[in-house]
Amino acid sequence: MGTSVAGRTGAMALYQGMVDHGLIVPAGPPGVFARGNGFEQVLERFNALVSRISHDDRAEVYTFPPVIDRHVIERVRYMETFPQLCGAVCSFVGGEREARELAARVGAGQPWNDLLGETDVVLNPAACYPLYPCLEGVVPAAGRLVTMVNWVFRHEPSPVPSRMQSFRVREFVRVGSAAQAVDWRERWVERSIALMRSLGLRARCEVASDPFFGRVGKVLAAGQEEAGLKLEVVVPITSDDEPTAVCSLNLHDTHFAETFGIRTHDGGHAHTACVGFGLERVVMALLSEHGFDPARWPRAIRECLAL
Ligand code: ZN
Repeated sequence: MGTSVAGRTGAMALYQGMVDHGLIVPAGPPGVFARGNGFEQVLERFNALVSRISHDDRAEVYTFPPVIDRHVIERVRYMETFPQLCGAVCSFVGGEREARELAARVGAGQPWNDLLGETDVVLNPAACYPLYPCLEGVVPAAGRLVTMVNWVFRHEPSPVPSRMQSFRVREFVRVGSAAQAVDWRERWVERSIALMRSLGLRARCEVASDPFFGRVGKVLAAGQEEAGLKLEVVVPITSDDEPTAVCSLNLHDTHFAETFGIRTHDGGHAHTACVGFGLERVVMALLSEHGFDPARWPRAIRECLAL
């Protein structure tokens, strides 16, 4: 099977291998770990490579914090469709008496979350969400293109290293006419497959759906698949898993534009599309394919990443 240096192994072996090589450092809960310097260097070089191949698109660059306005996820109806993934930020808002009870409960090892109150922020659950409120108004005829690296939270505790609770996504959002959105995504399908293959990863594109909650969610997922709204570029990360998505390419029709008042120059609702690379997953796919020591990766891969 190819030229794998590490000999692609199971999820647990990948996790342990990354720990043994100082690439990640366990930090408590499943899906939460520190990234060592070696891991981070590959991640940064891959992110820079994405910047290079998209340089001529001249995307605007935004930087967001890892929390977003609670109202944003309310307006996109996240709590109806993905309540199981949400991480809301709570804080202590009581007085002296409640503070004493809180301290006593923490000291006694008892649950204490019910003593906290709501704040106006939640952990950002999707890389492109923070942008949409910023796009309100009329977009120019050429449309807009914005790129970001965002921390994303998903409440999916798992020992599988590629399924993290908190991770980074290099995201692009295209806003404009229907044709602009569709054409732009189409170009990225080819670009992202070529990018992964240039790094020695066996990539292919699949129609996918989001992990909608519950019985209604199954219907939503089926509709999404039928319309081909969500595509994923998948690569093998471990031998005991199906290939894992490292890039997702989504058409939103006018969903976000209607919610956040984003219009085209001719007065209609804009169409939006997004492309996001799961940065940690790309690093893990590379480690799994080429071995735990990036200094010994094939020269062509190192040159491609400017390592
Ligand atoms: Zn997105």
